[in-house]
Amino acid sequence: MSYIEPAPIKDKENPFESMMFRFSKAAQKLGLNDEIYNVLKSPDKQVIVNIPITMDDGSVRVFEGYRVIHSNIMGPSKGGLRYDMNVTLDEVKALAAWMTWKCAVVDIPFGGAKGGIKCNPREMSSGEIERLTRAYTTAMMNVIGQDRDIPAPDMGTGQREMAWMMDQYSRHQGVTISGVVTGKPLILGGSLGRLAATGRGVMVTALSAMEKLKINPYQCRCSVQGFGNVGSHAALLMEERGAKIIAISDISGGYVNEGGIDIDKAMKYREQNEGILDGFSEADKISGEEILILDTDVLIPAALEDVITVENAKDIKAKLIVEGANGPTSAKADKIIDSNRLMVVPDILANAGGVTVSYFEWVQNRLGYKWTKERVNRRSDRIMKSSFNYVYDVSQRYDVSLRIAAYMVAIDKIAKAYTHRGGF
Ligand code: NAD
Repeated sequence: MSYIEPAPIKDKENPFESMMFRFSKAAQKLGLNDEIYNVLKSPDKQVIVNIPITMDDGSVRVFEGYRVIHSNIMGPSKGGLRYDMNVTLDEVKALAAWMTWKCAVVDIPFGGAKGGIKCNPREMSSGEIERLTRAYTTAMMNVIGQDRDIPAPDMGTGQREMAWMMDQYSRHQGVTISGVVTGKPLILGGSLGRLAATGRGVMVTALSAMEKLKINPYQCRCSVQGFGNVGSHAALLMEERGAKIIAISDISGGYVNEGGIDIDKAMKYREQNEGILDGFSEADKISGEEILILDTDVLIPAALEDVITVENAKDIKAKLIVEGANGPTSAKADKIIDSNRLMVVPDILANAGGVTVSYFEWVQNRLGYKWTKERVNRRSDRIMKSSFNYVYDVSQRYDVSLRIAAYMVAIDKIAKAYTHRGGF
């Protein structure tokens, strides 16, 4: 019997199991041999560190941090750093593998990694977060590096943490090495276009999918779950291309306006309202869950994992789902979605615009040169569109969903690279 049997999924899925289920399915479809399957199913390296930090009140707290390198077959590994109390090694392992597939789908020369620290940044002072970030960087001195492993922001981290990481790493090396992290402030070598890049990629893949489904952007109704970096930029750019955004949501709930929400207004309101839409009066309030089952053409989940499940998948009325978030659809829900012939642009393709522009940032840092926003957008749009078309062709050829096709595209590339490089 082959090792590549998708393991049955338990009632309560975790992101690692969901990822492994789809990976196994795609590997089976590709006829991947057991040797390469075994190489790719486990991460190359898992580092756990315990970091003692002196808190502002003089007490010492020990924080657990992780960095998982899933694969560096395609190049130095790339992936975000998450600060969250619920971070687990299992979650970081899944996210690291996702990064490997994501980079391969859009054909950028990176492998996959992810990091995390179990902490609640909302309850920590800026000084405490800075000490933790610098200590984590020092602990990972032999793991990260611009030719080795390149962190980026994720949940709970942003430009500020990337600036500290770059500075700490550079102090140890005795020379400024800006390419060691991406997602830096512009002044420290960040790239123009990075802020909107993930949402922009969502828009480009959504329009490509709509072309296949013959949905006219000017007659398209769209709802967006999550109004953070990814969701708000995706909504704004879809609106600019003619779509009517009838609903948006965030942690405070959902907001519907059948006449269309003015996204620029909603973004401005959010900025003046501590980052949330609570009290937004240009739309009617609904519950956060309802946004997923509204009568729309396109649904963009851009908030969190596992929101489309066996419980609500059958009620989804959209014709197209474009996954801005990582892992918004549980593996069990795939079956219901596929049997309803609903098209899903999967996360590893739809939200890869962010890592694509991170790659551009790294290239610019290596060249010591800055590209214009137009150049960044033009190049990332081209990559996102051609990646979508390639995945679409594979899905047609093998009669599989876009999700399995995207995994097949990624695994096939990595397997070929592994075969050329060889093992021991
Ligand atoms: P963010 O923190 O900027 O925004 C998250 C949004 O989700 C916020 O509006 C928040 O209020 C909302 N939210 C949180 N809990 C919610 C809930 N229960 N119901 C509805 N909304 C809720 O984060 P982001 O950077 O936009 O990331 C969103 C998703 O996209 C994550 O899954 C992330 O991993 C993924 N992603 C982000 C990037 C990127 O470049 N930022 C790249 C690839 C993937």
